[in-house]
Amino acid sequence: MSINQVITQAAPKFLTVAKFGGTSVADHQAMLRCANIIKNDSSNRVVVVSASAGVTNRLVRLSQANVSSVEQKQIIDEIRQIELNITQDLASSSEEILNNVEQEILVLLEQLSTYAQAQSLNHSSRISDAILSFGEQMSSRIFAQVLQSVGVNGHYFNVSQIMKTNSLYGKAEVDVEQLTNNSQQLLTPLLKDKVIVTQGFIGQDDAQHTTTLGRGGSDYSAALIAEALNADNLSIWTDVVGIFTTDPRITDQARAIKEISFGEAAEMATFGAKILHPATLIPAMRSNIPVFVGSSKEPEKGGTRIQQSVSSKPTYRSIALRREQTLVTVKSPAMLHASGFLAKVFTVLAKHQLSVDLITTSEISVALTFDNPTGSTQALITHAVVEELEDLCEVSVEHGLSLVAVIGNSIHKTNGVGTSVFDALVGVNVRMICQGASEHNLCFLVDEHQANDAVEKLHSALFV
Ligand code: ADP
Ligand code: ASP
Ligand code: MG
Repeated sequence: MSINQVITQAAPKFLTVAKFGGTSVADHQAMLRCANIIKNDSSNRVVVVSASAGVTNRLVRLSQANVSSVEQKQIIDEIRQIELNITQDLASSSEEILNNVEQEILVLLEQLSTYAQAQSLNHSSRISDAILSFGEQMSSRIFAQVLQSVGVNGHYFNVSQIMKTNSLYGKAEVDVEQLTNNSQQLLTPLLKDKVIVTQGFIGQDDAQHTTTLGRGGSDYSAALIAEALNADNLSIWTDVVGIFTTDPRITDQARAIKEISFGEAAEMATFGAKILHPATLIPAMRSNIPVFVGSSKEPEKGGTRIQQSVSSKPTYRSIALRREQTLVTVKSPAMLHASGFLAKVFTVLAKHQLSVDLITTSEISVALTFDNPTGSTQALITHAVVEELEDLCEVSVEHGLSLVAVIGNSIHKTNGVGTSVFDALVGVNVRMICQGASEHNLCFLVDEHQANDAVEKLHSALFV
């Protein structure tokens, strides 16, 4: 029998890949709620978990160059406490735990400590990624046991076997073809009688070193695995009851959206709505897999469906905010009527693997923005970049800015959008405006300290 025939026979009829974020697996109570979500819907056959809340932030600190051995020990102790609280609650709630998961966690913490020591002797981005991977390694082992404790046949699966990436540590790129082949060979046969529990966020390069996909990357891992398995649905379980008109932490007037198109939700993710990692919807759109976003605390409240076609296409759907933006302005009188200047600027940026977000140009100057992802360990615009640009032109670099994006439909063709948006922003200094490249957004930069105010004002004007 060929592999394909085995796959066809083994695959469940309706397959959902479910992803649980950090707060959803923060402690034993939270994990139990997730286990019950899996138990109550038998289409949930693959579970992708993040690290328990707070663990990856601590690992990021541990991976940095300037951590003393005292601080190292303290961080590892705090992580041990988070993990062992869960395993101890699990042990006391369940009569029979098949594996000694606590022992496995202690072994992993020993390995983590060895990596941390190696990192302080000789710092490398390769070891940073190895360190960052421990949160997911631990939460996935524990969650498989929590599933067992509620009577679901949870099976721990090491994602490194399938999630092959390049060696761009910190933001590794996944080999989608290998992922598909590996998933079908290694995962599909297991789905017949097991619920797979695997790690988001981490992968493995050709040299078998651990890699990571970027902060918040578990959403993206889950979407890639859903695509590789040809799943019928991807469920992202988090701490809010779906996607809101804006981040509910900014204004309590934000309200949940029932249904949103791939295109609009992808813009939201790209422009900073933390609810989804920016790349999450790429595989879902490519393979037309509907995505559900809901709260693992209140699954009964439903959530947001993201799909190809939706019944309504409002002009204004949501407002996204992305903090920590860097604005680089390059200025050169030689640019006037000259050709090839921008190409030279972009060659420098490409050499340093910097991707430009927004761009506006005037007669002799060009303004460019760059995202500075929270938690990234790399300085974005380095001295080397500035020096190379200075060979071409005058350069100024500004930090402390936020990008606000108004997202909706036919924004570029609707009369009065500009007036409605900018009339609402009385008292806010707007630094740079971009509109026209996408039908789904209008975005602009503001000073960081005015960002929340700008979003609140806009939200009341456009949504209330
Ligand atoms: P997880 O750990 O489950 O991945 P995240 O913290 O990464 O969760 O994402 C959920 C958070 O995203 C919410 O608590 C909320 O504050 C934030 N968020 C930002 N924009 C939105 C939005 N438009 N709708 C809902 N949540 C949003
Ligand atoms: N644990 C990783 C992070 O905190 C990945 C994720 O949660 O999606 O960034
Ligand atoms: Mg997240």
